[in-house]
Amino acid sequence: MAQPLSASAVLTALRAEGVRVVEVGSWRTHNRNSKGAWGPLNGSIVHHTVTRGTDATVRIVRDGYAALPGPLCHGMIAKDGTVHMVGWGRANHAGGGDPRVLEQVIAESYGARPTSPTKGNSNGTDGNRHFYGWECENLGDGKDPWPAAQYDAIVRVQAALCRAHKWSAKSVIGHLEWSSDKVDPRGFTMAQLRADVAERLKHPASWSPGTTTPAPKPPIEEDSMAGITKTDIFNAVWGTDAIAAPADAPDIKTNPTWQAQSLLKDVVARVRALQKAEAAQTAAITTLAGLVGKGVDTAAVVAAVQKAIADAVVKVDIDVTGTSGS
Ligand SMILES: [Zn+2]
Repeated sequence: MAQPLSASAVLTALRAEGVRVVEVGSWRTHNRNSKGAWGPLNGSIVHHTVTRGTDATVRIVRDGYAALPGPLCHGMIAKDGTVHMVGWGRANHAGGGDPRVLEQVIAESYGARPTSPTKGNSNGTDGNRHFYGWECENLGDGKDPWPAAQYDAIVRVQAALCRAHKWSAKSVIGHLEWSSDKVDPRGFTMAQLRADVAERLKHPASWSPGTTTPAPKPPIEEDSMAGITKTDIFNAVWGTDAIAAPADAPDIKTNPTWQAQSLLKDVVARVRALQKAEAAQTAAITTLAGLVGKGVDTAAVVAAVQKAIADAVVKVDIDVTGTSGS
């Protein structure tokens, strides 16, 4: 889908987005390209490092370690918001992940978050081929804070990539959204990060939220309901995603709450199923009653009952869909 940006192109994109960049050694040619493909590039993955100290962290993500040689990302986003470029090309950051998530990222088709991954490092699709990778200096314990300068840099880096590739913010995922055995990044949600990237993408690359003139406030309406449409009301009543899904819903794990409209549809479907079952039982009993004492054999009884059930179910379908007046 997308050719990887060149090293020069990514630098240009990052700097245009207001990112402070440090080039570490021969980062432009430091990669794992001898071990596999890089590209097509379909998105970007955000990680946390589980390290403390910027210098040590830069060393680790550039060099890697015995079991996992570097580079471990393309750029490391430090606590102060500086981005240290350590590699360009294939890097050991994403490992294996869920192919369904890759499809959803390519199509940018998911809602607030992609399907929860069920594949990971050992059995997943090669993510190092398809994603840019950004390690962010953080202990990953859910307590280590994310300074505003660092979070702002994460948003800018992701927006720069999306802008350069004409992607939406849905091309940006967290490692935990890619691989079933990862938890990073911890301390902010990817849905929030994507919302912040999406907001940036509405503005030019040079945008700084703090320095823009605030949008003029709309005049106060006398009628507080003015501008509310039927769709707004429908969504407020039927579209709120806040009701526990039925315990037997097939997607209960990934979709634990339902909209009221989904419950209504589910109830209608269940009533139809009950009507079918009830009609079938009545038909079977009626047929059996008609055969009592006639001395017919078992095969004939079964055939007669099956035909009665089939006729009854077809009749219910016609009745409930209202396509026939009979
Ligand atoms: Zn990670």
